[in-house]
Amino acid sequence: MTHHTLSNAQDRDSHDTLASYRNEFYIPANTIYMDGNSLGLLSKRAEQTLHDLLNSWKTLGIDGWTEGEHPWFYLSEQVGEKMAPLVGGFKGEVIATGSTTTNLHQLVSTFYKPDGNKTKILADELNFPSDIYALKSQLQLKGYDPDIHLIRVKSRDGRYLLEEDIIDAMTDDVALIVLPAVLYRSGQILDMEKLTKAANERNIPIGFDLCHSIGAVEHSLHDWGTDFAFWCTYKHLNGGPGSVGGLFVHEKHFGMAPGLTGWFGSKKESQFDMEHTMDPALDSGAYQIGTPHVLSLAPVIGSLDMFEEVGISAIRAKSLELTGYMLKLIEQELGGMEFTIGNPIDENRGGHVLLEHKEAARICKALKEDGVIPDFRAPNGIRLAPVALYNTFEDVWHTIQKLKVIMDEKRYEKFENKRGVVA
Ligand SMILES: *Cc1c(COP(=O)(O)O)cnc(C)c1O
Repeated sequence: MTHHTLSNAQDRDSHDTLASYRNEFYIPANTIYMDGNSLGLLSKRAEQTLHDLLNSWKTLGIDGWTEGEHPWFYLSEQVGEKMAPLVGGFKGEVIATGSTTTNLHQLVSTFYKPDGNKTKILADELNFPSDIYALKSQLQLKGYDPDIHLIRVKSRDGRYLLEEDIIDAMTDDVALIVLPAVLYRSGQILDMEKLTKAANERNIPIGFDLCHSIGAVEHSLHDWGTDFAFWCTYKHLNGGPGSVGGLFVHEKHFGMAPGLTGWFGSKKESQFDMEHTMDPALDSGAYQIGTPHVLSLAPVIGSLDMFEEVGISAIRAKSLELTGYMLKLIEQELGGMEFTIGNPIDENRGGHVLLEHKEAARICKALKEDGVIPDFRAPNGIRLAPVALYNTFEDVWHTIQKLKVIMDEKRYEKFENKRGVVA
């Protein structure tokens, strides 16, 4: 087995064709940032487009809707078009709007059509809580008891889901399927193509939450025939806290009436006719509701430029190298310290590594004290995300070295083993 050293990390950095992008980001001082899957960092380009849009308001007033470099009236469609390659969608299938949770509400309102005995929503027991809350409330709004009508596929080991188990649960009483693309804890990538195929064969609409996959892994939603998807832009897409999210609706559903309507879902040309009968856009634009959050969309424009330039396949390739390198270092340096790797070690892993340890909460605090920003997930998870556009192999090296010292010297013992308010 090769022994990995600091100079070998530095060597990999010197051969990295994406290395220059690190200079485009603001890296917090004296910090190794390993939390880009929770909140991506600010780039100079995102800062620039935020300033540009602020300036268009300053100099144009209301004319900013139709004038300037980025007229606000068409911005959601334009940013949608820029995001489309990241999900494998066509122009018109993707729109920048809302947030993950509001987009999920919109899409369930649109695609969940209980009929006779077909009333159930199929989800999984490992999904992010907000998605589950949204699904339960949608069932309640339609008069169904979530304890009976929300099916959550079980994980056999508490970490991963088996596609076979999910497909077995696609029974005749299921009216809608909503699943994560990448699990937020274990980083497992679900086989979206296989799941979509099975759902399509059974005529059950299927949608994916791409929060942990967009900007980190590749998707072919259009070709797979996936019905819908939704995501945020503040994780791997580096759009900033609360930046505007996105959604995808497959072309085969164009013309389908939105469940939640508002005037920004209108055809652009007729929106300002101010009729009381809505004339919805024929594509994914129909699923917008009200006035776009222009200032929260602004940084996304600059950030996406880099994804356009580099392409998602090069980003994914470097991400796999970084996490692969991290996994090797964990094996080399942290043996016998009671860590368990909680992510798939093969290419079914997304953009982060999950280390499990019973002292995880306070190990995270000790890492932070030492300048490494991890992400704690209760009860025992340390998530580490080396991000292709701004992290280095040397960052990965130092992260694992610091972790080793913290464990060797039991530095975590001075902290309480409890999470912070935001973890
Ligand atoms: C981050 C995340 C969310 C957050 O939803 P918001 O509406 O943006 O707050 C929801 N679901 C998943 C799977 C996430 O990873």
